[in-house]
Amino acid sequence: MKEDTKIVKAGRHPEDQLGAVNPPVYHVSTVLVRTLDEFENLRETPEGTMAYGRRGTPTSFALEEAVAEVEGGAGCISSPSGLAAIAGALLAFVETGDHVLVTDSVYSPTRRFCDTVLARFGVTTSYYDPLIGGGIAELLRDNTAVVYVESPGSLTFEVQDIPAIAAAAHARGAKVLMDNTWASPLFFKPFEHGVDVSIQAATKYIVGHSDAMLGTATATAECLGPLRDSVRGLGYCAGPDDAYLGQRGLRTLGVRLRRHHESGLEVARWLERRPEVLRVMYPALPDDPGHAIWRRDFSGASGLFGFVMESGSRAQLAAFVEGCAHFGMGASWGGFESLCIPTTPENHRTATQWAPGGQTMRLHIGLEDVGDLIEDLDRAFARFHKAKG
Ligand SMILES: *Cc1c(COP(=O)(O)O)cnc(C)c1O
Repeated sequence: MKEDTKIVKAGRHPEDQLGAVNPPVYHVSTVLVRTLDEFENLRETPEGTMAYGRRGTPTSFALEEAVAEVEGGAGCISSPSGLAAIAGALLAFVETGDHVLVTDSVYSPTRRFCDTVLARFGVTTSYYDPLIGGGIAELLRDNTAVVYVESPGSLTFEVQDIPAIAAAAHARGAKVLMDNTWASPLFFKPFEHGVDVSIQAATKYIVGHSDAMLGTATATAECLGPLRDSVRGLGYCAGPDDAYLGQRGLRTLGVRLRRHHESGLEVARWLERRPEVLRVMYPALPDDPGHAIWRRDFSGASGLFGFVMESGSRAQLAAFVEGCAHFGMGASWGGFESLCIPTTPENHRTATQWAPGGQTMRLHIGLEDVGDLIEDLDRAFARFHKAKG
């Protein structure tokens, strides 16, 4: 089955649901059984059957089956947010006394989780240069349980050499966990590149419409058991409506992402030619430092990227972001709508420095007409100049 067909078919079982194309939304806590035998065996019911709301419903099973198939893992477990999926995955593979290596370009709430929750339980985290590649071998210790990667990195978009990192990690018995949200399950196939557990903030491209919080973690056969025990043990379960919206969003992921890529590249190229722009961080651009690895390992780019523009006053920055007609200002991304926010990667680095000589920005290029978006940015630069005091 080709990718686009898989996206449409994976996890759908109309024959089990009176012919309905989409799975029903099961709102469930209690699941009733008829016999004492059944009741006593409830705890041992196989995966994929209903035993208790928290253990999953046909709605969450449909989402998990579909994501596992598209991403290419042995199984998937859903969580109520992307960060919950990250926490559940990390806690599955560490114990007191362990060490974790995390990319310095990591999503900052992941860093906070490591530095606070993991630290309190005696798990130490050290951060590494996202561009380290096979050089990570020198940082691996006997007690390194996990190497955590995110490619491209949050805010700064460095592309990591995942196969090289995974080979070094596996040689020392460490698991490789990846935040694969940027590429979605479509544009990067983590299990073909040595990843053991792949995490999606499904809130972003899988849901795709800015209206639900959802996370998924997909694993190899070897890692699936510990992962599931951890997520279940923490009591995480995705809400039924959100799980539904996730599996629904997945059906259009292919067409949406191709459009995000196409428009993202056009805006990125336009920005490269702007005199105010010092640098554009988008791996799909041929002169991006991560382009070669991106071409080797990814089959597309999403609509999220960064750029650095000349520094101005606070009033100038406000003028740039506040008056946009199409670019909204807000956390998150991956919906159909465009976003433009200033970012401060320099505040979230410990292993490397981020000193690009200007103001770092992040854009999410949505599904609007790309000409409208470019005009909107053109007007933002005009306001930026006009606000110079
Ligand atoms: C948003 C995001 C998350 C967290 O997802 P939530 O659903 O908001 O908890 C994790 N990783 C990356 C890269 C993200 O952008």
